[in-house]
Amino acid sequence: MNAFTYTAAPARIVFGAGALREVGAEVERLGARRALVLATPEQADAAGRVAALLGERAAGVFAKAAMHVPVETAREARETARRLGADCAVAIGGGSTTGLGKAIALEAPPDSPLPIIAIPTTYAGSEVTSIWGLTEGGVKKTGRDARVLPRTVIYDPELTLTLPLPMTVTSALNAIAHAAEGLYAPDGNPVVALMAEEGIRTSAAALPALARDPRDIEARGDALAGAWLCGTVLGSVAMGLHHKLCHTLGGTFNLPHAQTHTVVLPHALAYNAAAAPEAMARIARALGLTGLDAAADVQHAVPRAVQALAARHGAPTSLRALGMPAAGIDRAADLAVTTPYPNPRPLERAALRALLQRAYDGAAPAAD
Ligand code: NAD
Repeated sequence: MNAFTYTAAPARIVFGAGALREVGAEVERLGARRALVLATPEQADAAGRVAALLGERAAGVFAKAAMHVPVETAREARETARRLGADCAVAIGGGSTTGLGKAIALEAPPDSPLPIIAIPTTYAGSEVTSIWGLTEGGVKKTGRDARVLPRTVIYDPELTLTLPLPMTVTSALNAIAHAAEGLYAPDGNPVVALMAEEGIRTSAAALPALARDPRDIEARGDALAGAWLCGTVLGSVAMGLHHKLCHTLGGTFNLPHAQTHTVVLPHALAYNAAAAPEAMARIARALGLTGLDAAADVQHAVPRAVQALAARHGAPTSLRALGMPAAGIDRAADLAVTTPYPNPRPLERAALRALLQRAYDGAAPAAD
């Protein structure tokens, strides 16, 4: 038995096809009267729909969210919120838009906090974490702060029907990555393990159905429920090697977020497999892998099954395909061992360099 401490994140979750129509009632429930609606330029229409549903409760639309939350965008959004007298923000979109909402909440004056309602349209999971990120001068800073946790999350699978299939696959693998690392987190606990295993199971099971029909609303619901579970794991426990590598690769070489997670995950799992046998057994069960008797078989099969899941659905499997320069492998290996972070297997530079080379080449995952 392991001792543990668990603090549940105090968020209200409203889930269901058509749940978007509850947005007005949810703003009212927060005691807010003027909501600033946030989106990316690509999802300006969705933001307009939210504003129309809010009617008088809409203070305005700010559709300039961008990947990795540039500090200039965050400043402009804050200024817009102040100028329009917004007393809450509604963020409709993926992790980039949720991140913009968090950046506004982070700097809100203590005497007038700005609560966020998040309406996620990808599987990134940011809506249920208190992790914020801001990019200034090409450097992304991240931190945890309870003020940025969205107070309410509206999950409406109908809003994900437009998510293109390639992004659907990589975003679901991004979600699976949160749960997989949560299973070997040093601060894990039984509730998180349950959520992680079920999150992986639900997310992975949705992909074949979505590949057949990206407008399958039942499968969209499963994928979004999986994203909620996996995101909750991310928000609850410390992440390890995989998230560190993806953060480093994304920030240093400007690689796309979900795709980078998809490529790296099998390799990070292979690196950690022998040091985290229980986590591997749970992932194997969640992926429906059968006929594996010895722990070594499980440790070999799980990373390969994750890579096959991505490849089968047309996702990228190499960092080269994402545009990483070959010369960056050594730099990434150096960065991966500079700041300490929790990981079941000690960080060994030579083995990490080999891992990165395999991820760069799109080779099969291996432990050494
Ligand atoms: P994203 O938010 O950058 O979205 C990618 C593109 O897809 C955008 O153009 C967006 O408008 C579009 N899009 C989103 N949903 C759509 C839909 N349903 N239909 C059509 N187009 C849609 O991508 P993401 O992967 O969700 O988020 C990545 C960002 O989130 C990264 O910056 C990452 O660091 C951050 N993130 C933060 C956390 C956290 O806990 N703080 C967790 C996960 C990700």
